[in-house]
Amino acid sequence: MSPLSLYNTLTRRVEPLEPLAPPRVTLYTCGPTVWNYAHIGNFRTFLFEDLLRRWLEHSGYEVFHVMNLTDVDDRTIKAAAAAGKSLTEHTEPFTQAFFEDRDYLRIKPAHVYPRATQYIKPMVALVSRLLERGVAYKGEDGSVYFAIAKFPAYGRLSQLDRRELKTGARVSSDEYAKDDARDFALWKKSDAEDEAVGAAWDAPFGRGRPGWHLECSAMSLDEIGRRFGAETLDIHAGGVDLIFPHHEDEIAQSEAATGKPFARHWLHGEFLNVRGTKMSKRFGNFLTARDLRDQGVDAGAVRLLFSQTHYRQSIDFNDEALDGAREGVRRLGEFRERLTGDGGRGTGDGPLAELGKKMEAEFTAALNDDLNAPRAVAALFEFVRAANRGMDGGAAGSGKALAAFDRVTGVLDVLPTPKRLDSALSAWVEERLAARAQARKSKDFKAADAIRAELVARGVEIEDTPQGTKWRVV
Ligand SMILES: [Zn+2]
Repeated sequence: MSPLSLYNTLTRRVEPLEPLAPPRVTLYTCGPTVWNYAHIGNFRTFLFEDLLRRWLEHSGYEVFHVMNLTDVDDRTIKAAAAAGKSLTEHTEPFTQAFFEDRDYLRIKPAHVYPRATQYIKPMVALVSRLLERGVAYKGEDGSVYFAIAKFPAYGRLSQLDRRELKTGARVSSDEYAKDDARDFALWKKSDAEDEAVGAAWDAPFGRGRPGWHLECSAMSLDEIGRRFGAETLDIHAGGVDLIFPHHEDEIAQSEAATGKPFARHWLHGEFLNVRGTKMSKRFGNFLTARDLRDQGVDAGAVRLLFSQTHYRQSIDFNDEALDGAREGVRRLGEFRERLTGDGGRGTGDGPLAELGKKMEAEFTAALNDDLNAPRAVAALFEFVRAANRGMDGGAAGSGKALAAFDRVTGVLDVLPTPKRLDSALSAWVEERLAARAQARKSKDFKAADAIRAELVARGVEIEDTPQGTKWRVV
């Protein structure tokens, strides 16, 4: 197993990954709240987690990846009520949209996607356990709260000053600020709106619905408990905005119930900014994955763009950066074609094979160092430059170089999406090429040039060779 080190938010240090039962790694990543389409800021987090997952697997670990779907919380209920729909009617299309967006961006599917509404039983059990242990209590408003004063480790992840805690005071909304740390709701007494959208369940401590934080604790413990008899996750990941209160509260609920550490390694990805501001509906700079897809943006370009910044640094998303990534992806695709076409120069050793070996070593060292993707990408492009020079000079070893290139691009998954050729386009291109050949034969170069321009306008690149005119869609 390679020595992979990752930054741990819990200790604020880069530490070697030490899973409880190697080669297995249990990975829990907080999934989307399916009240609306996920925006590309959300997908930046999911893509960083995709890189983590792929690198763990590439390194020989057997990853069990759980990503929850939050289909009941303050926001989903409000959105369903506003749309005049039941919770399920409102959330299901957004769940399907999330899966489509995931596939567009080539994110590896998690092994399970527990939906909160289907895990009410383990949630009720967890609240009961916390009540029995005396760390939770029922408020006079009928909701059940977690008493942060009863959990001395509260605040460790987000480095809260315990003197700032408003012990005894309560907050019932799912989201609140760090300077408002107080007893939070585990189970919310249902109101008329909850009942109207079908977001209310019976429980021994009163009819109601789970708090958002409780959901992740109950689902993750249920998944790893049933499958592996474990009560501790190897890695828990999410966006930095989840550190407080979400992950802090998850730790409190889980550890107060099990008496075991909830997760050994906490990883958090930074924000994506648009025009210098964190993207959100509120700021009107909201962009979804499907917006990019509809604009014809190749998923490879989005993946490369995000790989060029370390996951613990914020990214500024703009057209220039995206164009740069598009160009990078195009170069990688062309390079691979050239390397494949160079197969004649052998499967043996040679300068190209050596370059590939060096690149792969640098790539591995970079990702083992807290997933330093920008350094890994730099090594890849340096290899492309050097190998292109090598091929110009007829260097040998392209077979091994190609294998190394495929291994690393398999991790990043940044090659251009293969264009699907439809037969109507092919027929049109062939017809236009025949007309162009005819024009050239009769020395009507003006007409021939016009046809070439027509082809280019539809993304068809042509090349005249001694064997005839070759074409491809770019
Ligand atoms: Zn969560």
